[in-house]
Amino acid sequence: MITCTKELKSSYLKDIIRQIKLKNNFEPEFIQAVEEVLSSLEPVILEHEEEFKASALLERLVEPERIISFRVPWVDDKGQVQVNRGYRVQFNGSIGPYKGGLRFHPSVNQSIMKFLGFEQIFKNALTGLPIGGGKGGSDFDPKGKSDMEVMKFCQSFMNELQKHIGQDTDVPAGDIGVGAREIGYLFGQYRKIRNTFEAGVLTGKGLEYGGSLVRKEATGYGLMYFMKEMLKANNIDIKNKTVIISGSGNVAIYACEKAQQMGANVVAMSDSSGCIYDKDGIKNNIIKNIKEVNRGRIKDYLHDVPTAQYYENNSNIPPVYNIKADIILPCATQNDITIDTAKLLVKNGCMAIGEGANMPCSNEAIEYFLGNNILLAPGKAANAGGVATSALEMCQNSMRYFWSFDEVDKKLENTMINIFNQCKNASEKYGYKNNYVAGANIAAFMKVSNAMKEQGII
Ligand code: NDP
Repeated sequence: MITCTKELKSSYLKDIIRQIKLKNNFEPEFIQAVEEVLSSLEPVILEHEEEFKASALLERLVEPERIISFRVPWVDDKGQVQVNRGYRVQFNGSIGPYKGGLRFHPSVNQSIMKFLGFEQIFKNALTGLPIGGGKGGSDFDPKGKSDMEVMKFCQSFMNELQKHIGQDTDVPAGDIGVGAREIGYLFGQYRKIRNTFEAGVLTGKGLEYGGSLVRKEATGYGLMYFMKEMLKANNIDIKNKTVIISGSGNVAIYACEKAQQMGANVVAMSDSSGCIYDKDGIKNNIIKNIKEVNRGRIKDYLHDVPTAQYYENNSNIPPVYNIKADIILPCATQNDITIDTAKLLVKNGCMAIGEGANMPCSNEAIEYFLGNNILLAPGKAANAGGVATSALEMCQNSMRYFWSFDEVDKKLENTMINIFNQCKNASEKYGYKNNYVAGANIAAFMKVSNAMKEQGII
């Protein structure tokens, strides 16, 4: 359970949360992410309170090792100069090179970068692979831009970013607004500036130049491997369950694909404009064509499937969540599910939530789901398949070798089963029943805090 700060027993923890709120007053997403993690760690903190206090462990954990912010000037197709702001948050490198995606979206700011970087520390620890936590991006909006404009922006962004990354230092990948096209332009510019083919500096690369099979599918597939395992542990079969998915980007499309392969019935998907409902089951190849090829809107689905319905986004509850389903997969963005949406979903009889996105549920919504015995697969565990496969891409780059699709997919599946077991075991050990949110936080924290402890006060 996320414990309300007022109910915390640890004075050290209460003090830290108070300090974080004061110090990061204008960073609501970051405060939300930190509060969610720290409050669920209380049983562990109480066991080691004096030791953690003496080494200021929590104070160091919540302070990024480094934040880089920079100007990104570029020239648009009309010849006008545009200026965006770029970021890289190198949050915690205690278990490996910083690793985490780049997000290009107009909403990007320091609070969002820090919350994503903070989450990434724990997610990466859960994969069991040697990767630290980082995140980056820009307030650049690729939507509506020509390929030439996207390329010019990516090149200018990399002119600065290249000073701070490297295959043993910091390895970015994609996130919202950064897919194969953007990674290609970023990698090209890095290679030109450095005059070296350092494949392991970026992941999510094209297959022709060092990318890994399954990386594109990994976050969505991994989400469903985790979901299947969580349901199995609770004696529920995923077959024939109805599923709705918020979003229709990389994570959403491959979660849909795997859910369908597992025999579930996906009936709705969305984008930031609205959602489509197809009671006969979403035709994922049509969604792929709209989003991956034409860069169009989800509404275009109706051209191919006129019997489907479209609902415009025009209230505080995104319309996709009005559709009744057993399994809900928020795969769009943070705080998509507020307390009002959570109440609606529970009233409509959902049984499980799988967070494909990062922090898609508000803390109140998480609390409500857990309080109503809804199974909740937390993002930092359930969507870790993407970064885990990125680490496998780095591994193949180091070996100058490629694994087959089935080899990578099997490693991904085993990783997700292992992550689920870590969440389950840690939650049971600390008396949280079926609370995989707390389980994920505790299992990851144990690993990161041990590494920090052994490396001294840095
Ligand atoms: P994409 O850019 O491929 O797709 C994002 C999807 O979410 C689009 O359908 C988009 O709609 C929708 N969306 C974005 N912002 C908003 C918003 N403010 N309101 C409503 N809808 C929105 O991104 P990804 O699929 O890669 O990422 C989705 C989520 O998964 C993010 O939270 C990301 O951090 C997380 N994630 C991604 C990983 C990856 O490997 N890609 C790994 C782990 C987590 P529209 O096109 O209309 O903007």
